[in-house]
Order: sequence, then C-alpha cells, then structure tokens
Amino acid sequence: MDMFDKLYNLFSQDVGIDLGTANTLVYVPGKGIIINEPSVVAINQKTGQIVAVGNDAKNMIGRTPAHISVIKPLIEGVISDFETTEEMLAYFIRKVNRNKFLRKPSVIIGIPTNVTEVETRAVRDAAKNAGGGKIYIVEQPMAAAVGIKCPIHEPVGNIIIDIGGGTSDIAVISLKGIVVSKSLRLAGNKLDQDIIQYARDEFKLLVGEKTAEDVKIAIGSAMAIKGENMEAGMRGRDLITGLPREIVVTDSDIRQAISKSLRSLANAVKEVIEETPPELISDVMHRGIVLVGGGSLLKGLSEYLQKETKISVYVAEDPLTVVARGMGVILENLKEFQEILIEHEDDIPPQY
Ligand code: ADP
Ligand code: MG
Repeated sequence: MDMFDKLYNLFSQDVGIDLGTANTLVYVPGKGIIINEPSVVAINQKTGQIVAVGNDAKNMIGRTPAHISVIKPLIEGVISDFETTEEMLAYFIRKVNRNKFLRKPSVIIGIPTNVTEVETRAVRDAAKNAGGGKIYIVEQPMAAAVGIKCPIHEPVGNIIIDIGGGTSDIAVISLKGIVVSKSLRLAGNKLDQDIIQYARDEFKLLVGEKTAEDVKIAIGSAMAIKGENMEAGMRGRDLITGLPREIVVTDSDIRQAISKSLRSLANAVKEVIEETPPELISDVMHRGIVLVGGGSLLKGLSEYLQKETKISVYVAEDPLTVVARGMGVILENLKEFQEILIEHEDDIPPQY
C-alpha cells in the first residue's frame, strides 16, 4: 500500500441505505451490501444508552426486563421514532466508516412513494444527523427498478411491486419516472398479525409476533401447492388456562388466516392497472410484473397475483436486496441517474 492508498483509506465511504420498516441494508460502492440487519434498536431506559442494534436487538423482542425497551423506529415505511432512527443510522454509518474521518460520507437513502414532505424531511434529517454529508433521496420503487435492471431510460412501462414489512408499494415506471403508484399499509407485518388473530380466534392461543412470522415463512402460502401438505408447530399461551400450549397448524390454516389481506393486495394491484395508460399496460402485458421485497418470498404469491391480474408475475432474484443494490448502482453512476433523485442537498434552501 503506498502513501496515497493509505491516505485514501482515511476518507469516509459513501453509502446507499435501504431504510426499511423490517430491515436496513447498507451498500458501499465497490464492496456491495455490507450491512443487512433488522431495523430494531434496544435501549436502556435508565441510562438512555443503546444496548443492541439489528439482529441482537430483534432477538430481545418480548424477552427484556422492564428497563430495556426494544424499539422498531419505523412503522409502515415512515419514521415513527426520529431519535432512535437517527441513532440506528449513526450506528450503521459508523460501522462502515470505522477509523475514517476525512470528509463526511454522501448518503443515498430511500423513501416509499406517496409520503408527505414532512416524512421525507424526517428521513433526510435523520441521515444528516447520523453523520451523512450530502444526502440524496430516491423513491424506493425507482431504486428497485434500477436494481433489477429495468430499462428505465426508455419509454417502456414496468410494474414493480415492493412487498416489505410495513408497506406494499405498487409502481408503474417509465422514462425515469413513476407514472402511477399506490402505497398500501399492508405487507409482511400484517400477515403476521393475521396469523396471531387466527390463532386467537380458532385455537384460543396467544402467540408472539416472532412465532407468527416464523410460521408464515415456514409454511405460509398464497395458493395450495398440489400434493404438498405442510404443518408447523406453534407455541403460545392458552387464553383460557393461561398455560403454555403447542398446536399444529397446516398450510391451509395459514392460507385462511391471510386470505383477506392477500385479496386486498390483489385488488390494489388491479386498481393500479386500471389507472395505467393503455400503451404502458401493453408493455406490462409483454414484460410482466416484477415482485421485490421480503414479502414476495411468500410461497405461491406470484402465481396468485398472476391468476388475479391475468398478467405474468415474476419474483426478482434475491428480492430482499434489490432496493439496496439499485441504490448502489445509482451511487456508482450519480451523473447518469441524477434525474431520478427526487432531492439532493443542493436543492434545499439554507435555513436562517
Ligand atoms: P422492508 O423493506 O419493509 O424492511 P423487507 O423487504 O426487508 O421489508 O421484507 C421484510 C418482510 O418480508 C417481513 O415481513 C418478513 O416476514 C417477510 N419475509 C421474509 N422472508 C419471507 C418468506 N420466505 N416468506 C414470506 N415472507 C417473508
Ligand atoms: Mg423495503
């Protein structure tokens, strides 16, 4: 390593941050995704100190003594606890830039579609206060489109559905812009809640969020798979005796639990299709709909949406990392993608 390299290594690295309701990913140009952790923070209420962030904090959910609270600082795609979001981002940015102190890193960070200016400002301010230098904001479906290599520069329609933890974002993209979009506050977390409700109603069993999510991932599905019956144990507390109990649920139970939510999702997709200009719909019929986000991993979901919309539906490769990878591409080619950044620091008037 010559002296120039040594000096260069002191410079902070720019980062792309996919700040999700469920997971936060950090992309560093030239290195890829180097942080991929749940958006969860555990705080000691007596001292105000952070006890754990990410996976370690998620494992503490429902298991902490009174003075430690575990916080999910985002709800339905937007920041609900500003201070904790800021601390979580600062923790991740510091982790990436250990021993680097020259220049503040530029940060590109995503927001869902259809959020308010105040909500956007909260994201920008959190990134800034967390140690960011220049802050660029991009709408998550645009980053997703870049992540799956859609020809966004061309006048060709693409439909992307990002099913995350808190929201499902449905967007029609053409010519570097979002033509029609809809953000539903119905995604992975809602399916978990559906399963909790089902266990309560059908089995008089109180189960935790983590248990519900585990069962969803293990045997949840949007459509029955022929010849395949799945079962899973689900532990909780009997609502009548108050004692622990384990039940066995089947894939068909879980389908029943989540069916209403899936129907709402399908209806929202149909509404977006109805609002899409005909030329773009013709492109979409040809190219298909692409699913991204962790929720797209639900078994049979693409088949279900395909049946409902009569349009081919595909799940993107590695759907949980698409948005972060898209941000990486944007960060590495800022000039080319300048136009899709809905805001960067130079746009913001100084505050007096
Ligand atoms: P966000 O962008 O909101 O942080 P993600 O794209 O990271 O969300 O997706 C998180 C959601 O995906 C969670 O609700 C999680 O339960 C769900 N998920 C992850 N893997 C699977 C799977 N195999 N099947 C069904 N849902 C899944
Ligand atoms: Mg997301």
